[in-house]
Amino acid sequence: MSNSRVERLLAPWLQALQQYHVEDAAGLIKMDAMENPYPLPEALRPQWLQALARVELNRYPDPHAQELKTRLRAHLGLSAESQIVLGNGSDELIHLLLMALNRTGASVLCPEPTFAVYRLAAQALGMSYHGVPLVASDFALDLAAMLAAIERHQPALLFLASPNNPTGNTISLDEIRTLCRAMPGLVVLDEAYCRFVGQSLLAATSDLDNLVVMQTLSKTGLAGARVGMLMGDAAWLEPLERVRMPYNINSLSQVTACFALEHDALFQRQVDDIRRERDQLFAALSDLPGLKVWPSKTNFLLLRVLSRAGPEVFRALRDGGVLVKNLHGAHALLENCLRVSLGLPQENARFLSVLRSTL
Ligand SMILES: *Cc1c(COP(=O)(O)O)cnc(C)c1O
Repeated sequence: MSNSRVERLLAPWLQALQQYHVEDAAGLIKMDAMENPYPLPEALRPQWLQALARVELNRYPDPHAQELKTRLRAHLGLSAESQIVLGNGSDELIHLLLMALNRTGASVLCPEPTFAVYRLAAQALGMSYHGVPLVASDFALDLAAMLAAIERHQPALLFLASPNNPTGNTISLDEIRTLCRAMPGLVVLDEAYCRFVGQSLLAATSDLDNLVVMQTLSKTGLAGARVGMLMGDAAWLEPLERVRMPYNINSLSQVTACFALEHDALFQRQVDDIRRERDQLFAALSDLPGLKVWPSKTNFLLLRVLSRAGPEVFRALRDGGVLVKNLHGAHALLENCLRVSLGLPQENARFLSVLRSTL
């Protein structure tokens, strides 16, 4: 196999691109990826399996996922006419948005630090990407710097995660309005964690004509099913349907997501439990010396180790059986930072005790 041929044929931007790294979690308590720690209850499994058993695996899935969209509209309080684009996770929706708006010279803007996939997906398509630092102390938006960057780069796309990953804080509707007015292109509000906030700004898409809102079922229990949804004006959504591959949501995921939405009360209780655990863990971490923890509206907390090197504490936690996300090196504002996703109550307790003995 000739490497020089591969190099010659690969797009230049792809040669420098790093793969999204996922740590091996075998044998560890998994508190690194914002998954819902609660498995589907035993009592519900037979019903779920019956629904899966009815799937005709020899047939292609419904390319429009009609039943799932009907249930999602009811879940989101949307009218029967409103459009939804579904993605294989919001990751795929990010890709579709970029592909659709990837004209020559089109650029992408994000406040940073934020969700790594925006940059990764933009760069995989050869688009130019610009990050604008958040305010270092509390990770608020630097609105003046954002407006200056919009003026300068005239971006086709602005991604705003609210609450933001990995900082956990939200962006206000006023800020979003200001940015939408200034943007020549599309503003994508990524509400991956809105269930943990208990509210969504989806309604704002009706009067902001360059705003679309993205959500996902991943963080509330269906990370394995890969279902993300995008809502907004049909004028933006319709072209995405043309770049979307016809069977992107497989039959098993469609059925599973419908099943989960039917039993949404269960997932809501889990969200409530996770929020309670988050507030308790936040309080406990705030009392620890040698540590800074930021308030969070999500199912994770961002910490900075002050008394030791962050990566050292990451390794000590891993040696103690707990996998968190090491963010040191991911961005200049994340020096010695770790991100911990809420686990089961006993897992959170284990994390706290290993961390205590490490610090
Ligand atoms: C986790 C996460 C996603 C990814 O969601 P999937 O639907 O699982 O692809 C998107 N945006 C943000 C901000 C996230 O943290």
